[in-house]
Amino acid sequence: MIRIKNLHKSYEIGSNSLHVLKGIDFNVSEGELVAIMGSSGSGKSTLLNIIGMLDNYDNGSYELDNILIKDLDETKAANYRNKFLGFVFQSFNLINYKSAVENVILPLYYQGIKRREREKIALEYLDNVGLKNWASHLPSELSGGQKQRVAIARAMVSKPKVLLADEPTGALDSKTSTEVMSLIQEINNSGKTILVVTHEEDIAKMCKRVVRLKDGVIVDDKKINQKVL
Ligand code: ADP
Ligand code: MG
Repeated sequence: MIRIKNLHKSYEIGSNSLHVLKGIDFNVSEGELVAIMGSSGSGKSTLLNIIGMLDNYDNGSYELDNILIKDLDETKAANYRNKFLGFVFQSFNLINYKSAVENVILPLYYQGIKRREREKIALEYLDNVGLKNWASHLPSELSGGQKQRVAIARAMVSKPKVLLADEPTGALDSKTSTEVMSLIQEINNSGKTILVVTHEEDIAKMCKRVVRLKDGVIVDDKKINQKVL
């Protein structure tokens, strides 16, 4: 599903260059649930953003579903993103003036689906994350865990091949984190490929494989016995 070879990425800051990813080799097969770990600044988000086509890389190669992702123009990148990828972020990134169901509907606007059908699909996905009765509520009326579940429903509604989550539990207490991870496990058990960036060992244990980044390289990459919730 994901094939990354000798990937390099630097950021140019003024006349300085910061070499963040220094030769990453990383493959992910369909159906995996992978935790990407590493201390703050180790390049986790940079790697996830490259995989999510939100950022470019300098050298090496990245293939997603056998398509080389390199120097795509913005239209093509947006197209592939909508087709292949779902995103979940620490800060939820919901639109504050739209209700839960309207947030989940958003990705469907670009797919030429009729209004009633869009609403029906979005409600179904909200139901899948246990929030059917919260459909008309604004994000400000939801708890952190509920907001993240809306964000997960929004990410899933366009049926992505891969779900990318950057610190999805970073803003949640430990009980709520476990609930969100339980939902992520459930989605993975239905066959979805999922990558979760986290710096918490407890969260990584709920995945099936743990990859550790340090100073821009992968220092450890192991399948683990998943803690089932
Ligand atoms: P992590 O997610 O593991 O905390 P990041 O991938 O966000 O790490 O960042 C890795 C390094 O790259 C950090 O030193 C960070 O300051 C730097 N960095 C990240 N994004 C940018 C950017 N857009 N421009 C310049 N430097 C950046
Ligand atoms: Mg980060």
